[in-house]
Amino acid sequence: MRPILLLLALLAAACQPLPAASAKPNLVVIYADDLGYGDLGCYGSPTIRTPQLDRMAAEGLRFTDFYSGAEVCTPSRAALLTGRYPVRSGMAGQRRVLFPNSKGGLPPGELTLAEALKSAGYTTAHIGKWHLGIHEGSRPQDQGFDETYGLPYSNDMDGRADLPSGASGSANPPRNGWNVPLIHNGRIIERPANQTTLTRRYTEQALRFVTTNRHRPFFLYFAHTFPHVPLFASPAFQGRSRAGIYGDAVEELDWSVGEILDALRAEDLADNTLVVFSSDNGPWLTMGAQGGSAGPLRNGKGSTWEGGMRVPAIAWMPGKIQPGVTPQMASVLDLYPTALGLAGITPAPNRILDGRDLRPLLFQGQSLPDHPLFYYRGQQLFACRLGEWKAHFQTQAGYGQAKPEIHAPPLLFHLGLDPSEKRNLATQHPDVLARVQAAVRDHRATLIPMPSSQLD
Ligand code: MG
Repeated sequence: MRPILLLLALLAAACQPLPAASAKPNLVVIYADDLGYGDLGCYGSPTIRTPQLDRMAAEGLRFTDFYSGAEVCTPSRAALLTGRYPVRSGMAGQRRVLFPNSKGGLPPGELTLAEALKSAGYTTAHIGKWHLGIHEGSRPQDQGFDETYGLPYSNDMDGRADLPSGASGSANPPRNGWNVPLIHNGRIIERPANQTTLTRRYTEQALRFVTTNRHRPFFLYFAHTFPHVPLFASPAFQGRSRAGIYGDAVEELDWSVGEILDALRAEDLADNTLVVFSSDNGPWLTMGAQGGSAGPLRNGKGSTWEGGMRVPAIAWMPGKIQPGVTPQMASVLDLYPTALGLAGITPAPNRILDGRDLRPLLFQGQSLPDHPLFYYRGQQLFACRLGEWKAHFQTQAGYGQAKPEIHAPPLLFHLGLDPSEKRNLATQHPDVLARVQAAVRDHRATLIPMPSSQLD
């Protein structure tokens, strides 16, 4: 190549703009349920084989420090779809998650990611678990999704009256133990849902949606039912993994991810589709072998220790996202502003969003400035991360500890030196605590008045 042409080519490459509105990239969010930080091959699992997710990570950006928006299902999903801490939408409370007899749900006034993208011409689908309300106004079809196929809440709800205690966490749960319905566009099509084939059927629906909409911008929110207990897998995956039924369920989920990415490649959509894989919260450790692993992180689902909220996360868009591993802190709250940026949508005024646009990190490899992360349990602020530091104001195990332990002064851990949160450095670093307290004050000033819980 002549030097001038080489120079022009280099300049063109350096000036490559962020993928922007004109291209209208598609968005696919694949969300596992209760998958732990240590449960994928690319996150160090010694026993569960995840070649598809490992390939996705090798081709994309894998996060070491990515957080869910809450420590349990319902508020975590509210955070993803609203881009806001669940205390802002009333999706946090004593009851922790929605139950079939809850009267509330995601308020109709919240502007979900699906609603925002729809306003920019996207076709939208929800496939899998919902868990943001079953009443009119809160259902997927009321919250911006053109299509919906899946379970209205967790697969361990609606238990049969004669179900023995502990059945949901068993290695061999009864197939008809739960009366949870499978709903397609508002209509119950199967009750109880046959859970053994759920992952396969969700995947078929997702593939159909991608193929049908290949010529227009789409948003697919694919929220798997597993590996939440009770655990089931298709016959092809039963008994395949070294990690029992938990590993079988995760390996089937891995297969599903591979199918989606293959379809995007086959339709020539891979370089115009941002795919993000993550989990709604950490592993349910009290389920024993039927719960996952938080790897080196402390505690699990239900707690604001790292194991409860730090989750696997991979962002994939070949040719646009430089492959690698990033230690940059990010959270599911960031997906909302990132997706709006990709779609060329200006966020609605007078609506506080808690995340930030990750496009400079994803597409230009830039570092992001420190941004505080707040860890809530219900409506209570338990901890705050700022840079490498994390302060705990209260701590409580996810399950089995009746009351929180209050810490005054707060516990302080350096997550770079001590990711397992073992060595409290509060007395050595009062300056850090002061900075954290200031971030908390600023955050609290934006929260008033606190809405009541929708979970009751
Ligand atoms: Mg969950």
